[in-house]
Amino acid sequence: MQRNWIGRSEGVELTFDLAGDNDPLTVFTTRPDTLFGVTYMAVAAEHPLAEKAAADDPAVAAVIEECKKTDAAEATLETMEKKGMPLGISAIHPLTGEEVPLWVANFVLMSYGTGAVMAVPGHDERDWEFAKTHGLPIKQVITPEDGTEIDIDAAVFIDRGVTVNSGEYDGLNFEDAFNAIADWFEKTKRGRRTINYRLRDWGVSRQRYWGTPIPIIYCDDCDAVPVPEDQLPVILPEDVEFTGHGSPLHDIPEFINAACPKCGKDARRETDTFDTFVESSWYFARYACPDNDSVMLDERAAYWTPVDQYTGGIEHAILHLLYSRFFQRVMRDEGLTDVSEPFTNLLTQGMVLKDGAKMSKNKGNTVDPQELIGKYGADTVRLFMMFAAPPEQALEWSDDGVQGSFRFLKRFWNAVQTHVDGGAVGELNIEALNASQKKLRRKTHQTIAKISDDLGRRYTFNTAVAASMELINAITRFEDDSDAGRAVAHEALEAVVLMLSPIAPHICHELWAALGHKTALIDVPWPQVDENALEVDEVEIVVQVNGKVRGRISVAADADNDSIAALALADGNVQRFVADQEVRKTIVVPGRLVNIVV
Ligand SMILES: [Zn+2]
Repeated sequence: MQRNWIGRSEGVELTFDLAGDNDPLTVFTTRPDTLFGVTYMAVAAEHPLAEKAAADDPAVAAVIEECKKTDAAEATLETMEKKGMPLGISAIHPLTGEEVPLWVANFVLMSYGTGAVMAVPGHDERDWEFAKTHGLPIKQVITPEDGTEIDIDAAVFIDRGVTVNSGEYDGLNFEDAFNAIADWFEKTKRGRRTINYRLRDWGVSRQRYWGTPIPIIYCDDCDAVPVPEDQLPVILPEDVEFTGHGSPLHDIPEFINAACPKCGKDARRETDTFDTFVESSWYFARYACPDNDSVMLDERAAYWTPVDQYTGGIEHAILHLLYSRFFQRVMRDEGLTDVSEPFTNLLTQGMVLKDGAKMSKNKGNTVDPQELIGKYGADTVRLFMMFAAPPEQALEWSDDGVQGSFRFLKRFWNAVQTHVDGGAVGELNIEALNASQKKLRRKTHQTIAKISDDLGRRYTFNTAVAASMELINAITRFEDDSDAGRAVAHEALEAVVLMLSPIAPHICHELWAALGHKTALIDVPWPQVDENALEVDEVEIVVQVNGKVRGRISVAADADNDSIAALALADGNVQRFVADQEVRKTIVVPGRLVNIVV
């Protein structure tokens, strides 16, 4: 996305003479090999030639107004209706001398390149669509390398290939044609090879009060002079009046008037302030050393950065995430840090929808979280939002879902209270557990493993909540009041309380204390998986051959039927009875027997 936004392209800048007394028109192309296919030229609605034509002709002016309304997004340019009109000016093809018409077109952007393009409808999708819409000629000048015949009138051919219908440049591949034509333009001084970027320079100053002052003083004799270090920081005046017209700093002589730091004469302070993006491009590093008032960053910034996890909307991908990368490299090159990339991971969170639409004040479909927090508590609201969808997907708001989360937290609360009401809990002796106690313990540690991965690596908070719910259900169904049973349930409840605490911190803090702990939950380490608890018990299974018991095998309690059947067939005594007979059927009754029919 950033690569596309920066939009680096190598090409040739070349000039077309215009008929009449117009100045030559300079265009940029990445495909000089298609030059002989130019059948028209086009300029943006804001181009001076278009504006000049509009001044003479109201019909042209109307079309230009239409074109100006065009959305400049790349995707829109591809699919939108191609609007335009001839300007009554001819351009002279630099190689053939032929005249081609000059149009104004809404798919040409003033902000990209020179605001003018040479149109090659045979080999460019937008040019082709525009030509089709407005009945302009389409000419084939590139043919596929494998010699396939193409019909340029039926479909545009945008791939690289071999030049045709290109005079002395016929029969060249892309590179050779690019170089031969670029050479001609450079030799005749009518053009040059160049690199173009879609990304514009970043104007960092803003004519407004709200921002960091730019520490520059303008002197008539010395020009722009930086404010010396001992006079930093420049502090904005607080006694200002906001009129709504321009920056109020213009009206404060005490702020504006300053002595030139170089010659001491009367001078003027810069009144523009920095775009807030300037500071947001490096604040994350400054957070690591906010108390250092002599340098921007010290070694603590290098220790804490890069940022492990960035969470933000997709619009940051080409804004904040891009600017801060530029900024980080400047700081690195200045020796302020040795970190080159500011962020390690990006999570693009989804939107919150209500009734299928994005929540917005205009639509009146917003939900006031404060009201819900008042009614159900912050834990319920957080739990619902974490549970409703994976973070990168849109979340559909549901009042029922909020109530469901509230009911779950009540069940959770009751499960712990019921357990605590049962009295003191003894030591957990993992050597002396029966099958169902081992089963709950296995579930507990499987859940710890799953939630640790969900929260720590996958960022799927919704599945972490679901796993907590499952474990609480298992604890509730457990109903074992023996000492060992209560110890196993206690371990399970402690694990859920710890694991839900990032999502429902208040209730978990209370429950942790209820479970008999004096240490605050926030100071307790994350629960660890006991690998031994994950081991599955083995069960003995009878193996029959044609209904008669011929062996006994030990298999994992949760083994699947296919592996049980394979183990049964491999048993030594069973093999003796099967011998070289064909196995016609194998019946597996899980946990009990296998019958092999031969
Ligand atoms: Zn001066």
